[in-house]
Amino acid sequence: MAYGRKVFDLGSRLGRVVDSRRAPRTSAGLVAATVFYAGLLRIRSFNALEPRLAEQPFLRLLGAAPERERLCSVDTVGRCLCGMDLDSVRAILVGMLQKAERNKVFREGWHGALRYVAIDGWEPFCSRHRHCPECLVRRVKIKAKNGKTIGVRLEYYHRYAVALLIDERFDLVVDFEPLLPKDLRPPTTKGKGPTARLVKVCLDEGEQTAATRLIKRVRQTFGWIDVVVADALYANGPFLTTLDSLGLGAVIVAHKETDEPLREALHLWADEAPHKIVEDTNAHETIALWDCRDLETLSSYEGKIRCVRGCVTRLKHSGEPPSTWCMLVTGKPTRLAPEKVLAVARARWHIENTAFHQWTTRWRLGHVFRHHPDALRSLFWLFLAAFDLLTLFQYLQLRSYGRDCGKNVTRTISRLIDQMLDELACWQRLAWDTS
Ligand SMILES: [Zn+2]
Repeated sequence: MAYGRKVFDLGSRLGRVVDSRRAPRTSAGLVAATVFYAGLLRIRSFNALEPRLAEQPFLRLLGAAPERERLCSVDTVGRCLCGMDLDSVRAILVGMLQKAERNKVFREGWHGALRYVAIDGWEPFCSRHRHCPECLVRRVKIKAKNGKTIGVRLEYYHRYAVALLIDERFDLVVDFEPLLPKDLRPPTTKGKGPTARLVKVCLDEGEQTAATRLIKRVRQTFGWIDVVVADALYANGPFLTTLDSLGLGAVIVAHKETDEPLREALHLWADEAPHKIVEDTNAHETIALWDCRDLETLSSYEGKIRCVRGCVTRLKHSGEPPSTWCMLVTGKPTRLAPEKVLAVARARWHIENTAFHQWTTRWRLGHVFRHHPDALRSLFWLFLAAFDLLTLFQYLQLRSYGRDCGKNVTRTISRLIDQMLDELACWQRLAWDTS
């Protein structure tokens, strides 16, 4: 609490959140603080939150005690979330990261002194019953026990493109953007000149469209980010061109051996021995690397692309075939050694392992607290701000604590939360500066 307040000015950041209710008895700032702490302390549902709203330790945490005996109902919390101003609630997380940057947390960068964000699609939940105007829809086959299809049902879901800052030490969320359903997509222009007309889009948005919007905003907000790391979905000319135009470098995993420029690189490497062999004694791995610069065979991209292939053999698993990775590299990371390019591409798994897995198993982000497009986003912004604050706290302040608890990051964080919950009940007075 003291860390959040002193270093990141958390109290006033939460206090600046606004919503659309008129003259509310409980301000949007207090509701934002309630949801933030519900996220931080991993309170599993609004039902579980309800009794806490009348408990003094929780009210002290919010800065609402002793004036209030009870904050409000969880219905009020839900209603406020629906009308919360998204820019004002996003500003908490953005403001914290910008403060961390000013405090030189990211100054050294990672490989090649660069700052990397991984982007990927995230689907927190799906439902066959409840839906809202921003739900995406898909048809799923219903199967009998014998595996035969016995019908088709509609499934509603939300999907977001997420940007995560990846680093040797910590992974922090920087931004996310929802994929829009067809009804909410702006019309596009068809034809040219006098015959040009606006037409309605008839498909739900793809991940790359949302990710492009996301990455433009990330670039605008966090000018110090250098490189985007992404999976094979993004291994195409238009996306690389977008990153180029934004001044961002790219490390993109490539899978399709028939697609340029990987096809050309594989052709050139066909009979060549590895260009470099790296023995990683810490990870018990041998890595064979092939490298090819200045490929120009991708017609939808104007610049030069570097291709790197790494074959990783795990020494402790002698019977296992080596795993192969191919990467397309443009911009600043082209100066990295090939083994560093591979390390960056492999770190992309952080986004699935650390972030998405932890968010649904530990942070309750898969639980639908309130099914409403803006309420979902507001809640994610608050929960993810709590996730970032806790991550920064753990790695910058509690380094030895992490070591004491072993190497399992998720378990260390869970243990920390348990201790915070235990201590919450003991606090008699909390010096909470709301100025
Ligand atoms: Zn929905």
